[in-house]
Amino acid sequence: MIPGAFTYHRPSSVAEAVGLLVQHGEDARPLAGGHSLIPMMKLRLATPAHLIDLAGLKDLKGVATDGSDIVIGAMTTQHELIADGTLTAKVPLLREVSLQIADPQVRYVGTLGGNVANGDPGNDMPAVMICLGASYEVTGKGGKRRIAAREFYQGAYFTALEPGEIVTAIRIPAPAAGHGYAYEKLKRKVGDYATAAAAVVLTMNGGRVATCSIGLTNVAETPLWAEEAAKILNGSGLDAATVKKAAAAAEAICRPASDRRGTPQYRTKMAGVMLTRALARAKSRAR
Ligand SMILES: Cc1cc2nc3c(=O)[nH]c(=O)nc-3n(C[C@H](O)[C@H](O)[C@H](O)COP(=O)(O)OP(=O)(O)OC[C@H]3O[C@@H](n4cnc5c(N)ncnc54)[C@H](O)[C@@H]3O)c2cc1C
Repeated sequence: MIPGAFTYHRPSSVAEAVGLLVQHGEDARPLAGGHSLIPMMKLRLATPAHLIDLAGLKDLKGVATDGSDIVIGAMTTQHELIADGTLTAKVPLLREVSLQIADPQVRYVGTLGGNVANGDPGNDMPAVMICLGASYEVTGKGGKRRIAAREFYQGAYFTALEPGEIVTAIRIPAPAAGHGYAYEKLKRKVGDYATAAAAVVLTMNGGRVATCSIGLTNVAETPLWAEEAAKILNGSGLDAATVKKAAAAAEAICRPASDRRGTPQYRTKMAGVMLTRALARAKSRAR
């Protein structure tokens, strides 16, 4: 339970942080809230010789609007997401998800950037970002670029980030006014990662689904975008038979690990159940 020795760095600009990451290469890791990285270090599953703490980068904090996009600094904490009025008005799904992550202690320190960059299939935000069509703003030695959340996750703890790159912001196209949304998460107890979870954002027109997007958490090595399931729902009134078909399509792409949360068969079935519940709640909220 004692991490290996490391040198602590506290840069005061993104350029300095990137410079340190480039200088120390594979021996260095960015540190955000530390609520995923420090436990990994204590278990010696991660042994970075250099920790580059991003806490001094004030530019990476806060929520702003840019046209119809919401731009959230990577170092914004999960607690700050819950408390932000603009976010609650424009993307209420984020508040709903944040409230289901761990407990207040973790949420006061854990950041959105750390949650999406970590690459742990158990993290809740990645599937939500995939559902929302978000992209990540990234800075590295080659400059800035944007990566779509739907292309970011390549395997467990394996992402499209190049060595030396940090996520600086998360950019979310604001869902249409009157959209319905829900995040349904099955967990064994408060503070647990998902056995399976489903995020839904949809719009309804004349009682029928006009648009729909679905993300699934912790039912594969990466978060999943259930594109086929959403297509099945489009144009429907979310009747029981169509929802059942969509749930089956979502289950068909699940490849969960077997762990203390259940067998792959159980977790796959629960993904379908979470989706069915999320669709019902999203429908009830859509105007
Ligand atoms: C008891 C407990 C329960 C938890 N339950 C949940 C849960 O239910 N759902 C959930 O989603 N999470 C859960 N977490 C994890 C928590 O949300 C973490 O805070 C989050 O996963 C990582 O955010 P962080 O800011 O702590 O990042 P850190 O732990 O500091 O970093 C995580 C990883 O991302 C990298 N990183 C961090 N920031 C950046 C960046 N800006 N650019 C590039 N790389 C970066 C780090 O190098 C590291 O590899 C739990 C944690 C604990 C301790």
